[in-house]
Amino acid sequence: MTNTPSSQLASDQMIVRRYLARAGAPPALSPAEAEDCKSEILSLLRKRNALLVAHYYTDGALQELAEETGGFVGDSLEMARFGHDCDAEMLIVAGVRFMGETAKILSPKKTVLMPTLDATCSLDIACPIEDFAQFCDAHPDREVVVYANTSAAVKARADWVVTSSIALEVAEYLSEQGKQILWAPDKHLGSYVQRTTGADVLLWDAACIVHEEFKSRGLEDMRRLHPNAAILAHPESPQAVLEMSDFVGSTTQIISASQRLPNDAFIVATDRGIFHKLQQASPHKKFIVAPTAGEDATCRSCAHCPWMAMNSLESLRTSLSNPVNAIEVNSEVARDAMKPLTRMLEFAKEQRLTVRGKA
Ligand code: SF4
Repeated sequence: MTNTPSSQLASDQMIVRRYLARAGAPPALSPAEAEDCKSEILSLLRKRNALLVAHYYTDGALQELAEETGGFVGDSLEMARFGHDCDAEMLIVAGVRFMGETAKILSPKKTVLMPTLDATCSLDIACPIEDFAQFCDAHPDREVVVYANTSAAVKARADWVVTSSIALEVAEYLSEQGKQILWAPDKHLGSYVQRTTGADVLLWDAACIVHEEFKSRGLEDMRRLHPNAAILAHPESPQAVLEMSDFVGSTTQIISASQRLPNDAFIVATDRGIFHKLQQASPHKKFIVAPTAGEDATCRSCAHCPWMAMNSLESLRTSLSNPVNAIEVNSEVARDAMKPLTRMLEFAKEQRLTVRGKA
């Protein structure tokens, strides 16, 4: 069940288009320029006692730099946990804005910078706090569960924050307690949670512009071309794609599945930024981007997030050297958003302990 009015959706789509016109990958550096840029970043990281935290969807050069300098590469849950636990004075978050905000809320004493403050997310844009608060007010009996891809203000209105790596477990937990869920903003992930757990879920109507472009018909053709390849999909993809997949999970879970499964080829329905890590983890396996709207489609169909692509070595250097692009979150909003975020981290920790205990 989806509840966002269609006029709201039309306006969200216009906003997304406006953002997309501004977003995009910066021009590539030559190898020599990239090396110079990296060594400058390295000394700036040391000088500022800063660590780089990068998402799997960012450029491979940023992911390598994060790992080489004692920082971290991961999904949004792991990024949040690392930022909170590390003892750096400054974090520089290569990803999109909600990741920087989450880092700042969890680590208020740390300075949190981003290579660009323009890197946002279609899910965040499509869930403005005013409309979301009305939606919550209209359903006061439901437990409010929001995806991490939301603004700090939306998180502050929630009972739970989840990432794709623990969405199923949280929904199961709430359902076992007889609770009904109000879910926002990703309708595909919410619907997947509903189908998989049987929980009573009321959905907000928004989607990731990257994952929504994966097409089941093209996937059927591709499977015929690569009959031995397993299909790995992120649950932000449409239902028809998920139903054809051999494995559905978060980015970290997709990487683990690619190592664990015996196949030597994989068709992958998530942002192609993840291919850097997939190939690093399994150098002898073949990874193929799942089909989207086709070669001549717009940048929405390139299996790469235009906002993640705004993170570059150059923007990272600029941000660190000045320093600029610091994330600030209103203190009351941060206080309220801290509760569901802490709940998520504690729940994830307990889950890890339970899984380890069962092993
Ligand atoms: S890939 Fe999709 S969900 Fe992730 S940041 Fe980009 S628009 Fe948002």
